[in-house]
Amino acid sequence: MDSIRTLEDPEATVLALDIGGTYTKAGLVSRSGEIRHVAVMDTASGDPFEQYVPRLAELFDRLRKASEKADPLAMGVGAPNASSQSGMMETPPNFQWGDRIPIANTCSKLWELPVFLTNDANAAALGEGRFGAARGLTDFVTLTLGTGLGSGIVSGGRLLTGANGLAGELGHINVFPEGRQCNCGLKGCLETYASVTGIRRTVFELIANRREPSVLEHYAFEELTGRIISEAANEGDALALEAFDYTAGILGTKMADTVAHLDPEAFVISGGLSQAGAILLEPLKRALEERLFPVYRGRVRVLMSSYTSEQAVLGPAALAWEKLEEGLGGR
Ligand SMILES: [Zn+2]
Repeated sequence: MDSIRTLEDPEATVLALDIGGTYTKAGLVSRSGEIRHVAVMDTASGDPFEQYVPRLAELFDRLRKASEKADPLAMGVGAPNASSQSGMMETPPNFQWGDRIPIANTCSKLWELPVFLTNDANAAALGEGRFGAARGLTDFVTLTLGTGLGSGIVSGGRLLTGANGLAGELGHINVFPEGRQCNCGLKGCLETYASVTGIRRTVFELIANRREPSVLEHYAFEELTGRIISEAANEGDALALEAFDYTAGILGTKMADTVAHLDPEAFVISGGLSQAGAILLEPLKRALEERLFPVYRGRVRVLMSSYTSEQAVLGPAALAWEKLEEGLGGR
């Protein structure tokens, strides 16, 4: 097999690894964003990290076997609470892997490649900018509304990283100083309202404070998913619709604040809650426009991500391609 060693070779790929709380996805991705092969496994984030490493090695082996030309130029990794500076995942929520997990070193031992690491939300922003809904934009903010709220900021064509590589944690900006308790220890953080978990809390508050019947009354908190709330709203359930309006009102207000800081061209919304589509998007656009400082009105688009869950590898792939183009060697 001829070795591929230039960025320009059309066969050239990078290895992209997306580590989520539920699934780990690895893929070989070309420079144009074509996913040549992908392999998925359960992350099993409740088991020790020592058990994850051999399973990750097997996942990489599956890719090597799937592709005869598996000769990637570099590896891009997106993971929760990952720091590009330390190469570690640092106290990731929902993982029982410890406080400092040497994920970059682990990956480079399993497949000898330069490894580039960033947190999952920043990887998502890079992926949307290079291959997705924000393609061609230089100033945008991605918001991933899942279990929590992840965000990434691209300003002037560059991912905003900050002094410590921690910029863009919009999930933990304050909505109400004495608001809902957040997992981070603060109160009233945006993600306690604008996320799948947040809208579930809103539904239960509304049920407690209202008399009108709702189909959502019949669910326990753990059973209630974003999909169930979306379906109820689509069928005209008044309480579900009110929950979406409330969520969109809070998120739209905070997005208007973000516009005042950054003057972006667009927001890209993804994650479980975005599957609600227009039921979220329409009140969100209205709330944003109403709260915007007048000079920004009519200038900020709200886009929905078109990525399927397998395409999550495009984020870390974009990171690896960007670093290779910058001529960096990786860790
Ligand atoms: Zn918080």
